[in-house]
Amino acid sequence: MTGFYSLMIRSAPVNLSARASAIGESATLRVTRRAAELRAQGVAVVDLGAGEPDFSSPPVAVEAARRALAEGFTRYTPGSGLPALRTAVADSYRRHHGAPWQAADSVITVGGKTALFELALAVFDHGQEVVLPSPYWVTFPEQIRFAGARPVMVPTCGEDGFQIHAGPLIEAVTERTRAILVNSPCNPTGGVISAPDLRQLVAFAAGRGLLVIADETYERFVYGGPHASAAALAAEFPDTVVLVGSFSKTYAMTGWRIGYLLGPAPVVKAVENIQSHATSNPTSFAMVGALEALLHAEPEVEEMLAEYRARREMLVPLLNDIPGFRCRPPEGAFYAFPDVSACFRPGRADSIALAEYLLEEAGVATVPGAAFGAAAHLRLSFACSRATLAEGLERIAAALAR
Ligand code: GLU
Repeated sequence: MTGFYSLMIRSAPVNLSARASAIGESATLRVTRRAAELRAQGVAVVDLGAGEPDFSSPPVAVEAARRALAEGFTRYTPGSGLPALRTAVADSYRRHHGAPWQAADSVITVGGKTALFELALAVFDHGQEVVLPSPYWVTFPEQIRFAGARPVMVPTCGEDGFQIHAGPLIEAVTERTRAILVNSPCNPTGGVISAPDLRQLVAFAAGRGLLVIADETYERFVYGGPHASAAALAAEFPDTVVLVGSFSKTYAMTGWRIGYLLGPAPVVKAVENIQSHATSNPTSFAMVGALEALLHAEPEVEEMLAEYRARREMLVPLLNDIPGFRCRPPEGAFYAFPDVSACFRPGRADSIALAEYLLEEAGVATVPGAAFGAAAHLRLSFACSRATLAEGLERIAAALAR
């Protein structure tokens, strides 16, 4: 009988939701996956694709999480995260930036990405617009669309280091705008917003009742002046500033998936409600590790930051030595974002084809600029050792000379 029915019954095609059909896989994670697949086949891939620190997580964090696990700290926690971690995160922004936030103004999330995702679902409605600078991190427009809103991209310019200026963002605001999303330092460009521009933007947004969503995941990765944080404006504009941060990059804790959000009470409450139906809580023992990192891993952070600076200094001249590559030193984050359009040729005629060519022919993983809305560029991560960078660039130069 079973055999007969399995011959007769055809399963119906799976209908995906319009929401799911409208988005694709994250380009950055796709490159990571592809590099891992090639490695599994025995290809010696140099991975300059992933924005993933190569450092070990701080030993204090690892030890604290290990102890928490061993001691049975393995049950649900409050949905918004460990009270001690919420307190420590809020304290940190109060201490460093004079922010008004207390523990209750924060939610600990499953990475910064989940904070942004839950926030998008909490505050965007169909037909609304979200203004953001371009190039942009691959996930922003997808999350905005997933929530039913429309991303409105405002170009930044390579000639001035992709600085984020308030004026053009303000000009893009219409009566449909719900929020302005600023990722400074920016992934992929490293562009930053200055303190005066940020103030102008936040003040304008507050006057219109618009949210400013500040994704400050790369806040510690700044190579010029000090980082201008939206947290410094939250006391003055408490109803409209929302800040998202992450433990992933600063503390080399990507796989732990711990991030957070701080902001006005109604937004925090809505995100808490959504999280209570989505992840319940972030992983219990990972939060214990994150707390320890925040409180005690500053020496490791300083060491890592010094190494990122050295990598950046090494990488940019090497990139500019490659015929057809033009690269300015990034102001922040840990990506180089050269204009590579001068080496487009048949067979590698755009950033996607070029990234594929480099992966297949040179075994070097990079992310095509097209994924970030900048088709003339390629993103190369320097969250890897200087030896890896040197080898990757040597291979790229050799493959492009062919
Ligand atoms: N944010 C990092 C990147 O851009 C990690 C991957 C991701 O989440 O996009 O490479």
